[in-house]
Amino acid sequence: MSKSLQAIRGMNDILPEQTPLWRYFEATVAGLLDSYGYRQIRMPIVEFTELFKRSIGEVTDIVEKEMYTFEDRNGDSLTLRPEGTASCVRAVLEHGLSGGGQVQKLWYIGPMFRHERPQKGRYRQFHQIGVEVFNLPGPDIDAELIVLTWRLWGLLGLRDAVTLELNSLGSSAARAVYRDALVTYLEARREQLDEDSRRRLLSNPLRVLDSKVPQTQALLVDAPRLEDFLDDDSREHFAGLRARLDAAGIPYVINPKLVRGLDYYGKTVFEWVTDQLGAQGTVCAGGRYDGLVEQMGGKPTTGVGFAMGIERLVLLLETLDKVPAELARQVDVYLAAFGEAAELAALTLAETLRDEVAGLRLAVNAGAGSFKSQLKKADKSGASYALVLGEDELARQVVGVKPLRDEGQQQTVSWQDLPGYLAGCLKQH
Ligand code: ATP
Ligand code: MG
Repeated sequence: MSKSLQAIRGMNDILPEQTPLWRYFEATVAGLLDSYGYRQIRMPIVEFTELFKRSIGEVTDIVEKEMYTFEDRNGDSLTLRPEGTASCVRAVLEHGLSGGGQVQKLWYIGPMFRHERPQKGRYRQFHQIGVEVFNLPGPDIDAELIVLTWRLWGLLGLRDAVTLELNSLGSSAARAVYRDALVTYLEARREQLDEDSRRRLLSNPLRVLDSKVPQTQALLVDAPRLEDFLDDDSREHFAGLRARLDAAGIPYVINPKLVRGLDYYGKTVFEWVTDQLGAQGTVCAGGRYDGLVEQMGGKPTTGVGFAMGIERLVLLLETLDKVPAELARQVDVYLAAFGEAAELAALTLAETLRDEVAGLRLAVNAGAGSFKSQLKKADKSGASYALVLGEDELARQVVGVKPLRDEGQQQTVSWQDLPGYLAGCLKQH
């Protein structure tokens, strides 16, 4: 195929074989968030570039080198959203949703765009489900966010595969004092730093902490520790969070080097990581951003949230064989009809079944075909039962119900009894 007719590198089609797993994952998360009283918000995929510069921070990887930015026909600089928090805060402010201290518990889902080097678990268009909570400053809500993700891992069968890493970044004042101490320490060892870290030393020194370069990591062993610089308020907040996680029985490790890539975080930061996906091990990440709303022009409004990467979680489910077997079945029942008169009857019979059997997934054979070929298609569809409607069955107003997945005998069932009969069969599956 010529190059112009291929998808863009790092932007993937999600094919019919994969969509059942995506939908299962998305429905599980949506149901979970409903059960905790969170409401969905949907923002546009494109925003003014300025929004991301102001919220994410000019000297972050995202803004420096990962954004898809272009000029539209009006000459405005627009950007495909690289993450959801900025747009969510913008929407909340624009519509006055956080005014007067109103609590908002929101979630969103959708594609994000970052010009990164594509590899397993890292793409240029990827998908996140994110949660943002406004006007709840205490550690109780930070704990709830973690508790609900823990429940999600339980629902998906992933609890053994993920670890919670936790840190507190303190207040911005505390962080500023720490930043100076860290810079002084690292400046004195400048020659030993890798090039990236040297650049970050000037622009965003805390990011040096999560450098992947071993030599830089070795240098950091004796560096000043953020935890020794925390303000009392943050220290108490962090203790409150830990006490709640302990009470809920959720295991975690404190990672003092966890700083997160975005500028807007303070106090709580956390990541759920797995060792099953190679280098792209973070499946869910978040934290508190109490200063962001004000920084974006709103009244002081606390915020806390997280986002999870759907591709990585789908990969993890596949890697660990946690894909529910029933997802492979497209339909429950396949209706095969032989001859034109039977085909006509099949059409109305199928509609009656769809009316009367709740949740029934029914495929009607199209394209005619011999008994053998229709039964082959029935088998391929993953259906548990084939319904056989030939001339003889038509005359008697019955169908043959043929179990496809077990050794059971074929039964003859009248059209009238069929809805009840199928409902009973499906309950067993
Ligand atoms: P990483 O350190 O892996 O680059 P990040 O800190 O840039 O992640 P966030 O901005 O916090 O990621 O996004 C939250 C989650 O979204 C990540 O934990 C990850 O699961 C997912 N994610 C981020 N970038 C990508 C990407 N390019 N492709 C696929 N998933 C991604
Ligand atoms: Mg990143």
